[in-house]
Formats: sequence, C-alpha cells, structure tokens
Amino acid sequence: MTDHGPVLPVWTCSGCGSPWPCLTRRRELLAEYDGAPVSLAIYLASRLVSATQDMGWAPATALHRRFIGWLPKPGDEEFHYSDKWIAPVPDLPQGVWD
Ligand SMILES: [Zn+2]
Repeated sequence: MTDHGPVLPVWTCSGCGSPWPCLTRRRELLAEYDGAPVSLAIYLASRLVSATQDMGWAPATALHRRFIGWLPKPGDEEFHYSDKWIAPVPDLPQGVWD
C-alpha cells in the first residue's frame, strides 16, 4: 500500500504534501496498471469526479490536467516524469471555509 494517498477533501498527498496524484504516486500507478492503461484512466477519472465535487472552486481544466492530463498518450515515445504536469493547488478563495 502506498504512503502517497490523497488527503481529502483538499487532495494533497499524505506522503509528501504535493497535489495528488504526486510524482511518486503517478509512478506507482503507472507500474500498478502496467499493460492496463484504460483501467488506469477509468480509475483516475473516478478520482477526478470526486475531486471536482470536493474542490468546486478549482478550474475544471486544471483538475483535468492534474488527474488525467499526465497520462501517456498512445504513440508517445517517452513519458516525461515532471512535476510541471501537475497543476498547482490554487489558493483558496476568501470565504470558502466561512
Ligand atoms: Zn506524494
């Protein structure tokens, strides 16, 4: 079991504090779902749906990029593990927790 699970409802990593899925978790997921990219995409899509509900203030495009946009595409020669693919967690707008 990974130490890099999501902390809800803010979706940060319990292991390293980065936006989830962090770099470590993404590597783990690629290994766990090796040969089953559709299953991985479905799993991440389900996480995206939950995250969208938890973080309604976050731009949908940023969440999509963070949860699904980093996946290797068919025909990609190489997947670059880089944190640049993770959208930063935006500051909470004032009043969110009021
Ligand atoms: Zn992590």
